[in-house]
Amino acid sequence: MSTAKLTIDLDALATNWRSLDAKTNCETAAVVKANGYGLDAGRVGQALAKAGARNFFVAAAEEGVALRRAVGPGIGISVFSGHMEGDAHILKEFALTPMLNSVDQMLRHFEALPGHPFGIQLDTGMNRLGMERSEWAAVAEIALGQNPVLIMSHLACADDPTHEMNARQLREFHDLTDGIQVPRSLAATGGILLGPEYHFDLCRPGIGLYGGAPYSDAVPVVSLDLPVIQIRDVEPGEAVGYSNTWTAQRPSRVATVAAGYADGLIRAMGSGAIVAYAGETACPVVGRISMDLITIDITDLNGDPEALSLLNPVQTIETLADAAGTIGYEILTSLGHRYARAYRG
Ligand SMILES: *Cc1c(COP(=O)(O)O)cnc(C)c1O
Repeated sequence: MSTAKLTIDLDALATNWRSLDAKTNCETAAVVKANGYGLDAGRVGQALAKAGARNFFVAAAEEGVALRRAVGPGIGISVFSGHMEGDAHILKEFALTPMLNSVDQMLRHFEALPGHPFGIQLDTGMNRLGMERSEWAAVAEIALGQNPVLIMSHLACADDPTHEMNARQLREFHDLTDGIQVPRSLAATGGILLGPEYHFDLCRPGIGLYGGAPYSDAVPVVSLDLPVIQIRDVEPGEAVGYSNTWTAQRPSRVATVAAGYADGLIRAMGSGAIVAYAGETACPVVGRISMDLITIDITDLNGDPEALSLLNPVQTIETLADAAGTIGYEILTSLGHRYARAYRG
């Protein structure tokens, strides 16, 4: 092994989709924006379609094109950013369903692609995407006359079940949509876990499929193994790495492995409590994380490891996220292009 190896367990991904699906009585779609949270939307989409997912969501129309090429016809692909200027031809050619976010988008869609399927995104308080109450009041009748396939909104605080924003957005969504005979969707991963009143007709999990919080029962999907380039002895009092942030307190052995912040192992992790595993044995990461290299204290190991594991069932994307002061979503979508990627399942 000469390059770091990222293994993506597609069976684990399918297991997470099935276990989230089992939590609801409604349809479970899958969110594969940002190239399948960095894991390859095509591979992820194929695996989830095989597991039973019939509808996918992407952020932008171009992502929908790549996904369509991978999953073929007969699968629904919806676009969160809606109908953007100049997208009509690809929406049509690749059978993508825009979630219309504004009156402007709605007019553009009806003019450019009359009769082409669309959904509506409503803003229930997040103030990011979607029509506001007043806009919706003005155009609801016209929109409903054109038979939208879905009405959706998005929760701002669903990762915190105690947050009062959840109930507020739920009330607003009911207020805006009750009595309308169109399938509705409010919940992503966090919303599924909030309970059945958040589920409506379709749930749209993303992060939980890939093994991330807040879905704590998720099985891990990614693992990462870093080849050892060199091992050296370090005397007490000698420092390791940029800015001398770590100094050996005892005769030590330090392994240098091939990956760094250019591979998404962001530098801030170095000051947290991350370790690298040799089998079951945890070895501390010492010194700064460099662009392409990480140094690891292997003094307590018997023998010289050929590789060390940074992501595994014990140390997950959430562990790395905590160490770096960020979220699992950012760790996943930052995993770099230099890894040799292997898909299992
Ligand atoms: C990203 C996103 C999702 C999926 O959210 P997760 O927290 O990853 O489950 C669902 N809906 C919208 C509108 C999104 O932007």
